[in-house]
Amino acid sequence: MPNAELMKKAPDIKTPLPGPKAKAIIDADARFVSPSYTRDYPLVIARGEGAVVEDVDGNVFIDCAAGIAVNSTGVSHPEVVKAIAEQAAKFIHMSGTDFYYEPQVRLAEQLAALVPIDGDVRSFFGNSGTEATEAAVKLSRYYTKRPNVIAFLGSFHGRSLGSLALTSSKSVQRRGFGPLMPGVYHAPYPDVYRFNGSADACAEASLSFIRDQILVHLTAPDEVSAIVVEPIQGEGGYIVPPTGFLQGLRDLTKQHGMMLVLDEVQSGMGRTGKMFAAEHFGVTGDIVNIAKGIASGLPLGVTCARADVMSWPPGAHASTFGGNPVACAAALATLRLLRGQYVNNAARVGEHMMNGLRALQDKHPLIGDVRGRGLMIGVELVRDRKTKARAVEERGALVQAMFRRGALILGAGRNAVRFAPPLVLSIDQADTVLGIFDEALAEVAQGHALARS
Ligand code: PLP
Repeated sequence: MPNAELMKKAPDIKTPLPGPKAKAIIDADARFVSPSYTRDYPLVIARGEGAVVEDVDGNVFIDCAAGIAVNSTGVSHPEVVKAIAEQAAKFIHMSGTDFYYEPQVRLAEQLAALVPIDGDVRSFFGNSGTEATEAAVKLSRYYTKRPNVIAFLGSFHGRSLGSLALTSSKSVQRRGFGPLMPGVYHAPYPDVYRFNGSADACAEASLSFIRDQILVHLTAPDEVSAIVVEPIQGEGGYIVPPTGFLQGLRDLTKQHGMMLVLDEVQSGMGRTGKMFAAEHFGVTGDIVNIAKGIASGLPLGVTCARADVMSWPPGAHASTFGGNPVACAAALATLRLLRGQYVNNAARVGEHMMNGLRALQDKHPLIGDVRGRGLMIGVELVRDRKTKARAVEERGALVQAMFRRGALILGAGRNAVRFAPPLVLSIDQADTVLGIFDEALAEVAQGHALARS
């Protein structure tokens, strides 16, 4: 069956899950692969097309996870596949750290015109989000000659030992790995849904925690190199901050000569219906980090910075594989496709999905909050709308119930689910997902009502 026919089929569950072929692979995985990975359900992919995924037993799913918000142009978009094949046939690797090649330069040139940074921009290339964080922290320290960093509770910036000191999404990600890099201070991320007061007061509470607690009691402003922030918090629960928050950070960092580092690893590359989430708030950073969606699934991380800030000398920082030519070719094709239609599609289909989810909120008391931008949508689940008691087990059950019905989603934070499909998702597919979500919510609500009675 050609891949294109897959698009017409989803979802189609033929075997109990996992099917026999999937089960054999999962059993081998348990023996030979690190147990540190978190698989919420037993999906073993065989192939895909757009926002449709087929597993090794022929079961077909609609994909609202996109390989953790990565497959921006869908699974194996033909134009991306072509760009990869053409580049691979020419040369697969040369190391941009010691030699020159055009795809890396062209990508840096295009990003300079796109990223939310004022003035001239230079880019450093790595292979992942965590490497982008490492580069941003090193660059901020190098440029400002200051040691400390401010990040936010609930944030995710990577798992290597430097970035892990900033990450504060779940304690299991840190447990047993200390001591971590010193000099990192965390402020609360403004979560309007969980704040007792207005959106403005919520933004102000986070900003004043930095101003009046961290910068008074813990570190002097002239020892802080950077504030690192996700313009929309991803792993922490797809939390959209109040309007004035990022501008407040911009003002604070300017006032004290700190770098404002925008981590757009998850929220960037069109996911929110604009190329970068910071555009929704009209804010520019000194440094912007990109990874995940930039190369449609090939490993690539980029740290973009004001050209005057990225002034470190030869030898100061580099990575053998960073900016691999095949990954850069995939990124150039991805950018063409995103600008061509998929950023707009994310805005259009995202709005449709948000409206659909808000309509479901009237019917399902389990839905406490629906939030997001474009196709970066979070739904927070609660046991009681008044107390906002977190529906943690229900969230797990809901993710499973969606899977059994043929829709792939992921959790975010403690009790939210996220919809992060490829940006090619159609309105029809969105409607199918909404229908499945409706059924899955009913099943979970019934199961848990029975369990409690
Ligand atoms: N920054 C953000 C906002 C992320 O969501 C992630 C990964 O989820 C990272 C950084 C780390 O990216 P990677 O897993 O590629 O190291």
